[in-house]
Amino acid sequence: MPDNAPLIILGTGLAGYNLAKEFRKLDGQRELILITADDGRFYSKPLLSNGFAKGKQADELAMQDAVTMAAQLDARIITHSQVTHINAQQRTLQTSSGAYDYGDLVLACGAHPRLLPLAEEMHEHVLSINNLADYARFRQRLEGRERVAIIGAGLIGSEFANDLALGGLEVQVIAPDAQLMAGLVPAQVAAPVQRALEDLGVRFHLGRSVASVRPSGSVLDLVLDDGSQVEVDQVLSAIGLLANTALASDAGVLCGRGVHVDRMLRTSDPHIYALGDCADVMGLQLMYVMPLMTSARALARTLTGQPTEVTYPAMPVMVKTPVCPLVVSPPVSTTSGLWTVSGEGQNIRAVFHDAEGTLHGYALSGTAVSEKLQLNRQLPAWLA
Ligand SMILES: Cc1cc2nc3c(=O)[nH]c(=O)nc-3n(C[C@H](O)[C@H](O)[C@H](O)COP(=O)(O)OP(=O)(O)OC[C@H]3O[C@@H](n4cnc5c(N)ncnc54)[C@H](O)[C@@H]3O)c2cc1C
Repeated sequence: MPDNAPLIILGTGLAGYNLAKEFRKLDGQRELILITADDGRFYSKPLLSNGFAKGKQADELAMQDAVTMAAQLDARIITHSQVTHINAQQRTLQTSSGAYDYGDLVLACGAHPRLLPLAEEMHEHVLSINNLADYARFRQRLEGRERVAIIGAGLIGSEFANDLALGGLEVQVIAPDAQLMAGLVPAQVAAPVQRALEDLGVRFHLGRSVASVRPSGSVLDLVLDDGSQVEVDQVLSAIGLLANTALASDAGVLCGRGVHVDRMLRTSDPHIYALGDCADVMGLQLMYVMPLMTSARALARTLTGQPTEVTYPAMPVMVKTPVCPLVVSPPVSTTSGLWTVSGEGQNIRAVFHDAEGTLHGYALSGTAVSEKLQLNRQLPAWLA
């Protein structure tokens, strides 16, 4: 395959489209093809967990259609096309709409929702929201209904609880953890967020898991592991995502929990790269927007003949729980250290230091959020 053969990007999420934009800034010539299983509309995924309260339909969250994106990027965008096989030796892709040759291939194929450990037939009653089509389906099923159970109290589950409750729905959250966002923030930071959500009407069943979900007439009956029952109109699962690695792994590309890449975002195959939710960059699986934007800029340079290693500064995340503002910079650069927590009411400051006293992370809620910029200056890079 000649090295000027097309660059193919698999996926039109934020990772695929941002890479295509960065690439086109540097190379206006090379043939560029994007392939996606969805309709190729450009949208900002974070809006999926705060669009409900604003009354936004899926179509209103989409910013551009695939035809407009193709014109802007001077690219071919092949939509509704599932990639089924990668032949890394011959550098070809098999898809549901035919075969394509590539010079270089970038995997920007995202992640899929983790399934609840329920009997097979119960899964059809449980939705997850990880793209525009999921959001549209969820909104449609909720038409004229009010009661939602959210399973999972992580960052995304907490955001949906806030958004749906603000949107006027009756929300119950069920999760096995003892606190919200366990593993991300200390309990003293999670508590004011939980209280603020409770004040909004959200009910929590923490320390509980769901044993079964069964339809009963037009409603759904959930039985929890302590035998208690919850009746709702809709169930939303937010228990995390798993990187899409199957295609890469079947092609002989080294994968673990994500597609393994080096600092050039190159996989174990010299002509296949990966970024975004599907990638594991030197042991870091960062399923957030900022890391994929940084990756897109570095990879665009590498793909246009300027080999560039990706560097990640610390990239704090604003959690979309407006009832109790929260910003978190998880301690990515080390796990050994201690949280120190101060403050009262909603306004909590938690900082994570190692044994030498170096700051590695923080979680700030309420008015303490204003300390963000000053703390950011002290944080070490995640990937220097
Ligand atoms: C509800 C929600 C809220 C979030 N909020 C925030 C936030 O506030 N801040 C933040 O930083 N991050 C947030 N995130 C995370 C962030 O949105 C993601 O990290 C990011 O959007 C992932 O982009 P991606 O392009 O890697 O993956 P995706 O957007 O999942 O795109 C994957 C693409 O690959 C395609 N694809 C996959 N497999 C195939 C195949 N076999 N054949 C063809 N096409 C295929 C899909 O069709 C799709 O086009 C949020 C995530 C969710 C779910």
